[in-house]
Amino acid sequence: MVNPASRPLFPDTIVAAATPLAESAIGIVRMSGPHAVFILEKIFRGKTDPTTWRSHQLHYGTIVTPEGKPLDDGMVVLMRAPRSYTGDDSVEFYVHGSPYIVRALVKLCSEMGAIPAPPGEFTKRAYLSGKLDLAQAEAVADLIRTKSAAEQSAFKRRISGELSDKVRSWVDRIQHLRIQLEIDIDFSDQDHSAVRNPAILQEFQLLAAETGHLADSYGWGRKLVAGWTVVIAGPPNAGKSTLFNALLGEGRSIVHERAGTTRDLVDAVREFDGMAVRLVDTAGLHERGRADPIEAEGMRRSEKILESADLILWVEDASAPRLADSKKRLHALLTTLCNSGARPAKDASMIVVANKVDRGICWGTAEFQENPSSNRPKDPNMSFAILFASATSRDDIQRITLAITERIRYGQDNDLVPLVRERERDQVEQATQLLRQAAVEFSTNVPEELVAEGLKRAQQHLLALLGEGVTVDLLDDIFSRFCIGK
Ligand code: GDP
Repeated sequence: MVNPASRPLFPDTIVAAATPLAESAIGIVRMSGPHAVFILEKIFRGKTDPTTWRSHQLHYGTIVTPEGKPLDDGMVVLMRAPRSYTGDDSVEFYVHGSPYIVRALVKLCSEMGAIPAPPGEFTKRAYLSGKLDLAQAEAVADLIRTKSAAEQSAFKRRISGELSDKVRSWVDRIQHLRIQLEIDIDFSDQDHSAVRNPAILQEFQLLAAETGHLADSYGWGRKLVAGWTVVIAGPPNAGKSTLFNALLGEGRSIVHERAGTTRDLVDAVREFDGMAVRLVDTAGLHERGRADPIEAEGMRRSEKILESADLILWVEDASAPRLADSKKRLHALLTTLCNSGARPAKDASMIVVANKVDRGICWGTAEFQENPSSNRPKDPNMSFAILFASATSRDDIQRITLAITERIRYGQDNDLVPLVRERERDQVEQATQLLRQAAVEFSTNVPEELVAEGLKRAQQHLLALLGEGVTVDLLDDIFSRFCIGK
């Protein structure tokens, strides 16, 4: 993109603190726009005049007020248009990280003609000047909020354009199909059936499968951002807190041979293979606990969090006979999980940990093959995995960790940068629908013009991901969620 300094992209110059207004080693203020160099020249005293500076070089000097009063010493870099984040001349000041100094510097730039930048304004300008598309720009805000290695990697890949390139390649392939259809229109001479090429149909189907796969990635992409909630539940004294502590590698929950030590929810976040997981230890569930009002409240909280769990680790003592109460509860939970849709074991929402096997094993997998009641789930084996283990054994904790990791990773495709927003998912789903429809229409000899029309709409849905055809209101809404200075 060419942006001669004489033709700035934006009429005004913006300024904002790019670091939090808190005591810190360094505070950064950034400024961008047509008057950035002019303002810099007025407030900076260094060895050389900023108008003579080369782009992307650091200069040491003093920031001074119009009256010549020094505010602070610091470093400054000038990034000349178009080689800057926004595409316009941009300046970054590195000063002492005092909230007073940073605020005073922003005020000084404002007095010299810059306007305070609203949230996300720098990235919005980067988007408007074509430096980033919408999928990349939104990932900038996501990257700032990132909490885990997996999330960081996904957003980094997005910013580098991996998702955008994929979307563009689909748009190009659809364009190619449209051109082929147009050729068919020219040569078909009303006889549509004569020219229907099986290779074109195959390409329709392939494209629909690829876009559909991306739409499906929203399922795990959303959890990548929100983090997983793994709830440890079961009867009292089964070893839930022991397991919780062992998985965390620290003694967060009280472990005691007396039942009922965990009364409130205890939670902590750790990463499983780079994915952020909120582990929750809960109060033991047993009917007798209802008699004690504090325990009853603990149980109520346990039951509530179970409803929102992404994965349940149901812990029972395998060295003692199963309690009728626990059987009933587990059965009820499995019934609920099964009713929410039969899934393969790898996609199960529950792992039963048959604990304390070091003390002997009183019951086995057969326990779950029996028919505990008439309304037994259709196929409980499809909805949970069972692990015989000892929460006090390091090896077993590793096995349980692996099972949780495998469960979380199930369905994820490392070759794909996942969708993380409902809006994106909807667009890609609509494109997929249209491609599928086009495939059907093509094979049933619907006129090429109509098929081509559907393809055009599919392209529009895909391009919306990159920001094309997106309304100003939506853009404002997206960028208003950024932080100031980004
Ligand atoms: P919770 O009530 O389910 O949270 O159970 P705790 O984690 O407090 O454990 C209850 C008791 O069982 C404690 O005395 C633990 O040391 C003991 N315990 C937990 N897991 C095991 C295990 O795998 N083997 C043995 N032998 N004891 C365990």
